[in-house]
Amino acid sequence: MMNSLTFPILKLLADGKFHSGEAIAQHFNVSRATVWNAIQHAESLGIEVFSVRGRGYKLPQTLTLIDKQSIVNKMSPQLNWLNVEVFDTMPSTNSYLMQNMGAKTHGTCVVTNLQTSGRGRRGREWQASLGASLTFSLLWRFQCGAATLSGLSLAVGVALIRSLHELGATEAKLKWPNDILINQKKLAGILIELQGDMEGPSTAVIGVGINLQLPESVLQKIDQPATDLHQTLAHTINSNALMATLLKHLVDVLLTFEKTGFDELRDEWTAHHAYHQQPVRMLMPDGSEVTGVVQAISENGSLMIETTNGMQKFMSGEISLRSYNTTQA
Ligand code: ATP
Repeated sequence: MMNSLTFPILKLLADGKFHSGEAIAQHFNVSRATVWNAIQHAESLGIEVFSVRGRGYKLPQTLTLIDKQSIVNKMSPQLNWLNVEVFDTMPSTNSYLMQNMGAKTHGTCVVTNLQTSGRGRRGREWQASLGASLTFSLLWRFQCGAATLSGLSLAVGVALIRSLHELGATEAKLKWPNDILINQKKLAGILIELQGDMEGPSTAVIGVGINLQLPESVLQKIDQPATDLHQTLAHTINSNALMATLLKHLVDVLLTFEKTGFDELRDEWTAHHAYHQQPVRMLMPDGSEVTGVVQAISENGSLMIETTNGMQKFMSGEISLRSYNTTQA
C-alpha cells in the first residue's frame, strides 16, 4: 500500500537540505509519528533518507522530480497534442498503458518518478530508482498490423540515439535489436508491446528506461555491465529536458516509420551499431549459440551475420547479442 504522504514529503526534501520532523509534521498538519511512517515507507521503496537526531530528515542530494509542466514548457508547441501524464510511482509504465489502452489517446506518454517493477524482454527485470532513472512509455496507434511493425523497436533506438547525441552523449551506440550502450555498458533499454491484429490496426506501447545516475545499490542488482548518463557527461542532465528531447525525436522517427517503415532509418541505425562488422555471439532461446561477423540489417530489422555456414538472418524477439570477446550470458 502506498503511503499518501511519502511523495509530498519527498518533494519537500527534494532541495537536499535538512527538514526537522516537527516542521514537516506542521507543514502537513500531521503527527511526527505519521511523518516517520511515511519516511519508513520511502526507505522500503529503496529511497535513501538520512535521519539525524536534532536536525531532521535529508536526502543524500538534491532531487529533480519529473513534472508535467516542466516537460511541456520544454516541448515545441507543435507537440502539444501529446498527452503527457506524470505519476509519482507505479509498478510499470508499460503495464499501466497495456491495461488502460482503450481509455488512452494516441500519443499518450506516461512517465513515472519511481518505477517499482519495471520489465525487460522475456520477463526480465528493469531496475530503476527515484531521481536516478527516466522511465516512461508512449502509446502509438498504427494503421498497419503487427506483421509490419517488426522494425519498430530498432526505429525507436534511432530516436534514442538522436536524443542522446543532441544532449552530448555522443558515445551512445546501439546494440541489436534495441539496447543503448556506452563503452559496451548498457545505458538504456527499450521494451515494445503490441496489441491488435497481424493485419492491423494495432497499438504499440513503447517503453523506455534510461539510467541517469544509478546508486551503487541498484547497479549491484543488474546482472550485466551497466552505465548511466552521469558517468558520461560532465554535467548532470535534467530529466524533464531529456524527456522533452526524447519526445521530439520519438515523434519524428515514428512519423517516418509510419510512412516508409524501418528502411528509411536503416543506414542511420547501422552507422550507430556498436557491433557493425564485429564478431559476435548470438544467444538463442534454446540455449545454443551462433557465432559470426555482423554484416548488415535487413529492411525489416533482422540482423545478417556471416557464419561458418554462410550468411544467416536473425529476427529480433528472443535472441540476445553478445560481443565475441565476453563470456557473459
Ligand atoms: P540483453 O540486454 O541481454 O541483450 P534484452 O535486450 O532482452 O537482453 P532487456 O529486456 O532490454 O534485455 O532488459 C533486461 C535486462 O537488462 C536485465 O536482465 C538486466 O540484465 C539488464 N538491466 C536491468 N535493469 C537495467 C538498468 N537499469 N540498466 C542497464 N541494464 C539493466
